[in-house]
Amino acid sequence: MAAATLALPSLSVNATHKLHKRSTAKMKLSWTPYDLQLNHTFTISGFSRKTTPVVLTRIEYDGLEGFGEASLPPYLGETQASVIAFLKKVDFSAFSDPAHLEEIMAYLDALAPGNTAAKASVDIALHDLAGKMIGSPWHRMYGLDKQDVPDTTFTIGIDSDEVVREKTREALGRFHILKVKVGGPDDKRMIEAIRSVTDLPLAVDANQGWKERQQALDMIFWLKERGVVMVEQPMPKSELDNIAWLTAESPLAIFADESLQRLADVGRLKGVFSGINIKLMKCTGMHEAWKMRNLAEALGMKVMMGCMTETSCAISAAAQLYAGMDFADLDGALLIGNDCFDGAKLENGKIIASDLPGIGVKPVGDLLFGRE
Ligand code: MG
Repeated sequence: MAAATLALPSLSVNATHKLHKRSTAKMKLSWTPYDLQLNHTFTISGFSRKTTPVVLTRIEYDGLEGFGEASLPPYLGETQASVIAFLKKVDFSAFSDPAHLEEIMAYLDALAPGNTAAKASVDIALHDLAGKMIGSPWHRMYGLDKQDVPDTTFTIGIDSDEVVREKTREALGRFHILKVKVGGPDDKRMIEAIRSVTDLPLAVDANQGWKERQQALDMIFWLKERGVVMVEQPMPKSELDNIAWLTAESPLAIFADESLQRLADVGRLKGVFSGINIKLMKCTGMHEAWKMRNLAEALGMKVMMGCMTETSCAISAAAQLYAGMDFADLDGALLIGNDCFDGAKLENGKIIASDLPGIGVKPVGDLLFGRE
């Protein structure tokens, strides 16, 4: 995709007219903390957990409501308390139109550094709202074919052979590619356990776990022989020279995850990684994710869409903008037992956005939004 597509999709004359008519309405932001219950204890290189805290957001405007979400895995540093403290600072009184995303996101960025998930929760709610005002899902405004998406990976965490085989069997028939968390002493054992059950293609994520580049390269060759098709974040995030060497030598594409946060990071990773993993929670949401995708593609890099453990709210937002990407890891809402949104769905191994306007979601049950 050309760099010329960096600008926001333009609104139709009719939609612009509708926005003008509503210019006296006010945006009202509210939120509710929520704890996601994971179906399985989840272990990656260095961490184990059974719940993920999130904060759900809502923006009301002229009789419409937009929904958003901040997902807060503990290793990223944001908490429900820090998100709520940030949201309390947000004052929309200077803005008359939720579709002025560039201006509003610049304002949010200037409020405080960091807080990327908190910012994403506002960005997603604004996109949901703006899409509902215009009457269109975002994938259509981006000009994407929502069916033209890569298969989503389904993640198998580091675990005993027995549990790994059980999780692999659960995935059969539902998913066409699995993602394996590696980066520990048990990498080969994990892969052999999965291979005792299935020949499905595998993506691996080392989460910075390999410490020595030649060993990492040997492992990548070994993995390729066993049907692995891509590698995410093989070495520590700041070791860009070693990773650039690895990428140059590797028979598999190497994707940046922890080495990358936002748009400003994309350019310096050209020539270091084969591609980037874009996650809404790290990059402040859809507005910046769309720019990152376009920049990476203009630089000749591969692109994948990733996620945290999230409800179908944030997953549906990601599902709006990932058509045509190389890989997807959007199983976040499938790993929890208490999803409180209905939206993008798993269909034949792919996460497909709904045709509802905005990000395409409906809340399930009663969510009590407030400002405390
Ligand atoms: Mg990763």
